[in-house]
Amino acid sequence: MITVIAIVVVAEISIMIFFLYLPLPELSELSYAILDGLLLGMLVAPAFYFSVILPVRKQTIDEQENLLLLHDSLTGLPHAPLFQEMLEHELHEAARDLSCVSLILIDPGGIGDIHHEMGYKTGDSVVLHVAESIQKVCRDSDIFAHLNESIVGRLKGDIFAVLAPHADLACSSIISEKIRKAVDRPFDVNGVVINIICTTGVAIYPDHALNAESLIKNANSALGMAKQGGLASIAFNGVESSLSSRRIEIVSRLRHAIACKQLELFYQPKIDLNTNQVSGAEALIRWLGKEGLSPAEFIPIAEQTGLISEITVWVVNEAVRQCKAWERSGIRINIAVNVSARSLYDAEFIEMFTGACRVQQLEPSRITVEVTEGSAMSYPELAIERLAALRSKGFRISLDDFGTGYSSLSYLKYIPADELKLDQSFVANITSDCRDERLVRGVIGLAHDMRLSTVAEGVETEDVALMLKALGCEKVQGYLYSRPLDAVSFEQWYRERQGVQGNA
Ligand code: C2E
Ligand code: MG
Ligand code: MG
Repeated sequence: MITVIAIVVVAEISIMIFFLYLPLPELSELSYAILDGLLLGMLVAPAFYFSVILPVRKQTIDEQENLLLLHDSLTGLPHAPLFQEMLEHELHEAARDLSCVSLILIDPGGIGDIHHEMGYKTGDSVVLHVAESIQKVCRDSDIFAHLNESIVGRLKGDIFAVLAPHADLACSSIISEKIRKAVDRPFDVNGVVINIICTTGVAIYPDHALNAESLIKNANSALGMAKQGGLASIAFNGVESSLSSRRIEIVSRLRHAIACKQLELFYQPKIDLNTNQVSGAEALIRWLGKEGLSPAEFIPIAEQTGLISEITVWVVNEAVRQCKAWERSGIRINIAVNVSARSLYDAEFIEMFTGACRVQQLEPSRITVEVTEGSAMSYPELAIERLAALRSKGFRISLDDFGTGYSSLSYLKYIPADELKLDQSFVANITSDCRDERLVRGVIGLAHDMRLSTVAEGVETEDVALMLKALGCEKVQGYLYSRPLDAVSFEQWYRERQGVQGNA
């Protein structure tokens, strides 16, 4: 650089001397002015070049180099240092707004092998496919408007990362599932069909860590756990790893149970208090065999690990099939199925129900969909849209465990429901605790004002049933009438009670 400056300076001085000592002919005033201008320009132009243009060019080149350094040259996604910086910024914002941030790490297993066995060109195409699929989920997602604000990064060792502001655990597991579905789709690279099976690990701010570095570390350890246990996804569980190992063990047993058809639906009757007739039954899942657990134990784990989608599809098909089979044998009742939040927000939610009814040629009005108030309240707008769509097709909607979840009474008026189920925790003591009685009376009144019918759960004594009837509750369900029974026992119980003569 100094040499260039020296050459330019020497050249300029030589030109000036040349012009000073050159025996010039008589020139006009204008010609002198032009000559002066030229001389001045020769002096100013290099000075301008070195003082303004060169530094700006250098800055642009530095920025481009920096950009290349901070972004992945293949996918254009931020590398680890920039991603961490962006994460730090989001955590800062979340701390200010008292909101949460989800970090999802995605490991598209086997990319190293593809690079090794099929060459770097194919490997790079796979990496690009993964990057584009993840970005597409985040960009096009109809589920969460705020997903548009998410940031995708490519960290070391072919691990991708998604930073989703405002996404809690339920939301992040839905995003993870969508990403897995998008990435795991078989795709063609130069005539070769590639199948990627990716694993995701999740950590949430502020539940699992308070700074970017720890959040990445914890999401990474969740990812490691998921891979180790052969699971699709795991959310970080900071309590103790033995708990996670237990979860992993339960999931693999549950998988085995699904494959070996060890899951069964039991049915608990719903009694109409006005007619004393069986108006319907709630389908409750049971895990049979020595290893079986109660739904309260395994449903949350299935929800966290994505297995619930598979379970819900099975439950819906089985309940619809059983409802039709009973209809054919003269038992015309409504069957209620329980749906987890994750399934409610699943893109195939509506088709799952309409498809099952189409196949069995069952009237949708014979199926009630029980959603918990909490799950409907996680993303109210979407829940309302999904439930309204289902209801418009003729399905009945019931708000389960009412009063135990969120107290979002303001949303109650927008939820398109037909029925409200009073949680058993209020019902059990209405005859002995006057506060429970007032609460139940109030909720029944509220439900009726909203044109919803009421079902009380956990009715175990005649006194409770009588009081509920006096309070205007339409239906009851509980051990007083029957515990949940397998399909054959339920049919027997039903026929004995109703005196229905079956065809068989
Ligand atoms: P839930 O939907 O509120 O179901 C009512 C629970 O209360 C059932 O427990 C039932 O057996 C129990 N119950 C019924 N009557 C009485 C009674 O008189 N006294 C007492 N103490 N309990 C009574 P279960 O079958 O263990 O199910 C627990 C929860 O697991 C269900 O609560 C539901 O949230 C979930 N669940 C069950 N089956 C499914 C399913 O197929 N899919 C999904 N997503 N969740 C399910
Ligand atoms: Mg229920
Ligand atoms: Mg309930």
